[in-house]
Amino acid sequence: MRYFSTRNNNEKVNFAEAALTGLAPDGGLFVPEEIPQYKASVISSLGTMDFCDIAFETIKPYVQDDIPDTALADITRSAYVFSAPLVAVSDRCAVELFHGPTAAFKDFGARFMARSFSYLRRSEDKPLKILVATSGDTGGAVADGFFDIPGISVTVLYPKGRVTPLQERQIAGLGKNISALAVEGSFDDCQRLVKAALSDNNLKKRMSLSSANSINISRLIPQASYYSAAAGRAFAGLTDPDGEATPRVNNKTAVQEKRRIKGIPAVLCVPSGNFGNLTAGLYAMKMGAPIGQFVAATNINKTVPDYLSSGEYLTRTSQATISNAMDVGAPSNFERMAAHFSWEQMRQIILGVSVTDDETRETIVSIFNETGYFLDPHSAVGWKGISKLYADKKLDTAAPAGILCTAHPAKFHEVVEPLIGPPPVPASLAGAMKRTVNAQTIPADVSALIDTL
Ligand SMILES: *Cc1c(COP(=O)(O)O)cnc(C)c1O
Repeated sequence: MRYFSTRNNNEKVNFAEAALTGLAPDGGLFVPEEIPQYKASVISSLGTMDFCDIAFETIKPYVQDDIPDTALADITRSAYVFSAPLVAVSDRCAVELFHGPTAAFKDFGARFMARSFSYLRRSEDKPLKILVATSGDTGGAVADGFFDIPGISVTVLYPKGRVTPLQERQIAGLGKNISALAVEGSFDDCQRLVKAALSDNNLKKRMSLSSANSINISRLIPQASYYSAAAGRAFAGLTDPDGEATPRVNNKTAVQEKRRIKGIPAVLCVPSGNFGNLTAGLYAMKMGAPIGQFVAATNINKTVPDYLSSGEYLTRTSQATISNAMDVGAPSNFERMAAHFSWEQMRQIILGVSVTDDETRETIVSIFNETGYFLDPHSAVGWKGISKLYADKKLDTAAPAGILCTAHPAKFHEVVEPLIGPPPVPASLAGAMKRTVNAQTIPADVSALIDTL
């Protein structure tokens, strides 16, 4: 498989180059030159296959020129020691993407990225330094994904005092090959410092540098796996039992008939910010996973829902909400969606919907009262998005519906707890809270960053 930049489809590179460079030299995003197809035998067994095997079959055609099957099998087995269960809640399903070490879906991308980088650089002597700027969630997933990976070290920059205590421990509590810099400034300052360091020629002479932000194709491709797993289970009329970290306090849910109907492609709702997650879903659908419809649910930062209804793409500055990992006014992955699909094609596959903070809070409360299930604010945006489309008769109620639950509610307990009480805390988060923060504070100044490195 070869990859080209969204801004120039003449220059093609292999997976290794696309992954290790991140952003294309012309500022575009790498996209695969074609979206491969699953074998028919894989499609028919998606409902019963093990998650690691689905991940292997999903990623393989994208990387096979650079990563042989045996190495890929090792990578997926070591990355996915957790899966993405499809849990019945009320009249729909939760696709629980929060069973990884940092309790958010970004673990799926970050853990594959770390292991594939390590493999692709196996014969390099010069160690690789990854720089990441984070407003909270990405930094933790990347730090955790690369923790203890040989030959690679990570420096995470975060705005001092502007991440939650849990996020700070996930970023700055690991040690070993992960270091953390608390920048006296904003997230934008952190991003500016990373960009400047990545293009500093003196620094580049001394060390290999790369970044790990969400536009990296190696984070996106593995995410297609959980769409195929969820759609396969739903199509087969199967759901999974509550897992250890499933945030349900009682078992009020009556399994409704609808979910047992086999053979209808699923409606999958994706709470979206930068739209990397939804792009991965589009890949899974094109590969042949039984998905009938996507719902792109945003908070009030509704650039993409507006585009889907008007055909005009107008970015704006982001507004702060309680689902803050989706506070994005200029979604970086939209360029990728537009490289694969026209407006008309997108409108056929994706329904856009936007949800306010009040609606998000009401949904967290009503779903808890009805079912005992705790939704985090991002997942609640997805839940409400589907409900609104049902109310407007825009969605087929016969199709099984799944909400991608992008984070565990305990990760956002500051929002959830005042509404419905404390959510159960998964072991990974309880462990992270016990870590000691070890970060160096630096001014929001490029020379300070370069001196530290
Ligand atoms: C990153 C994130 C999102 C947004 O995902 P995109 O791929 O940027 O659309 C949604 N929910 C949570 C919890 C996240 O961390």
